[in-house]
Amino acid sequence: MALFGSQRYSKLSLPANGERKMVIPDGSWIKCRNCGQTLYADRLEDNHQVCWYCGHHLAMTAEQRIKLVTDKDSFVEMDRNLVSVDALGFSDSKTYVDRLNENSKKSGLNDAIVCGTATLDGRAFALGIMDFRFMGASMGSVVGEKIARLVELAIEKKLPVLLVTASGGARMQEGILSLMQMPKTCAALERLDEAKLGYFVLMTNPTYGGVTASFASLGDIIMAEPGAMIGFAGPRVIQETTNSKLPEGFQTAEFLVEKGLIDRVVERKNFRKEFSLLLEIFKK
Ligand SMILES: [Zn+2]
Repeated sequence: MALFGSQRYSKLSLPANGERKMVIPDGSWIKCRNCGQTLYADRLEDNHQVCWYCGHHLAMTAEQRIKLVTDKDSFVEMDRNLVSVDALGFSDSKTYVDRLNENSKKSGLNDAIVCGTATLDGRAFALGIMDFRFMGASMGSVVGEKIARLVELAIEKKLPVLLVTASGGARMQEGILSLMQMPKTCAALERLDEAKLGYFVLMTNPTYGGVTASFASLGDIIMAEPGAMIGFAGPRVIQETTNSKLPEGFQTAEFLVEKGLIDRVVERKNFRKEFSLLLEIFKK
């Protein structure tokens, strides 16, 4: 029994008041997916979710994005309670209704976009922000309807529009109803164009599928965040279908600005200043 009782290492003595004990609550540290460095969540919040080691732009919630692009307390949300119906009675590994409820609970949102009006440096505009936490910000009938209503309000109130996109594409659980949001949003934006009020897009990582193929690509000025992946189908699908090697940097914001699909890559820390300038240039 002496064997079990023996003390091989000396006991570590800690201050009695436990002052030096470090308490790390869950979720305080986030690993950068690009460089692998560990980032402190509070500092990341202050740095607008941009890694200070490598400059990687991490995903933002709609709430964080509102803070970034609007004057304090100026955002007034509209159509918050619009929710999808399960018109097709869709079910895969779980029912669409269960999936909607789960995503709502997880994100605190009723669907994948938050819309409203706000000001920046005192200039009013209409704002829609897609939030990837809700079903990969897929475009269902609520996303399309909220954008159409936002644009209609902008025309009525003579406001420019900013849409911040992020999406995996159409929401397959809504079938054709999801695809119908493409012409619907485009028709609303056509009326905005006729009113010459200014339509701005900020594409964030990732913007894909029916969103890229409709309202995201119609901006008077189309901006994107550094490193954002933008396309219709993903690179692997294209590579396998065409059986060809894709060029370096394919589908990144930097690649697409060179090809002319987007106008400008804007670092997050500069967006507020640059967007404010656009509002000034486009003011009526
Ligand atoms: Zn990093």
